[in-house]
Amino acid sequence: MTIPTLSLNDGTSIPQLGYGVFKVDPAETERLVTEALAAGYRHIDTATIYGNEEGVGRAIAASGIDRSELYITTKLWNDRRGAEQTRAGLSESLERLGLDHVDLYLIHWPAPKNGPVQETWETFAKLREEGLTTSIGVANFDDRFLPAVLETGITPVVNQIELHPQFQQRTTTLLSEKNDVKIEAWGPLGQAKVDYASGPIGEIAAANGISWAQAVLAWHLQQGRIVFPKSSSRGRMDENFASAQVQLSSEQLAVIDGLDKGLDGRVSGDPAEVN
Ligand code: NAD
Repeated sequence: MTIPTLSLNDGTSIPQLGYGVFKVDPAETERLVTEALAAGYRHIDTATIYGNEEGVGRAIAASGIDRSELYITTKLWNDRRGAEQTRAGLSESLERLGLDHVDLYLIHWPAPKNGPVQETWETFAKLREEGLTTSIGVANFDDRFLPAVLETGITPVVNQIELHPQFQQRTTTLLSEKNDVKIEAWGPLGQAKVDYASGPIGEIAAANGISWAQAVLAWHLQQGRIVFPKSSSRGRMDENFASAQVQLSSEQLAVIDGLDKGLDGRVSGDPAEVN
């Protein structure tokens, strides 16, 4: 099964569907990433704060898969700001991952209480020039925070934000897309905190002979978003991977578009508050 790739604004490309490891127990990470790689995933999304970069790195090393076939993302945690701290952050992540570069390095949150991100972001651009990361991007920079990044003249390739049917972040998506910044939807399934199995998504799933999760993931993929759902079971890893083959009709996409609850749909942290 082939996973589509999307072209990014720096000339590179990214597999549109990957495997995320938020809340994957560090002791289980090597086994689960190995399972995900066996299921066909080639794009892994981790972060320093997840505490499981070592496990991701061990699974990569043991897989025997050529590095060029893998797309690895990690993220700088909020307690690190400024040139020196940023450099140390990536260097320590690379060491834990056992890699000489990542494909994508992200500022994890704007964390406004920790000061401005300009110097950190300019350091990201230098780390890219030095080849320690191929691409650079941001996470959780909604329409209140993305403008300050864009003003530096260094455009992120992606903005990784919470996005699922009841929380569609339309203003941030439009601002990102206008600047050729792709949206990575985290919590693409609503982090299992929302009942998407019943109601309109359940009906769409039944009509297409697919699961509710496949319906939601297909909705993301058909609208050009990048997703990396997390699962600890091989059955669900396979199910989520197969969503790349699903085609929803434009009417079905419009029904899911209609489920947006605006800011009331958020199920996780507000970027203005997370530090
Ligand atoms: P998610 O929406 O992927 O939900 C994960 C949960 O959904 C799983 O724990 C499981 O209970 C359930 N699930 C998975 N597949 C299913 C299926 N086929 N059927 C039924 N239930 C299923 O939420 P997430 O893990 O928070 O988000 C995905 C990834 O996004 C993370 O692993 C991480 O890599 C990234 N992320 C980034 C940030 C950020 O701040 N940048 C925050 C959260 C997550």
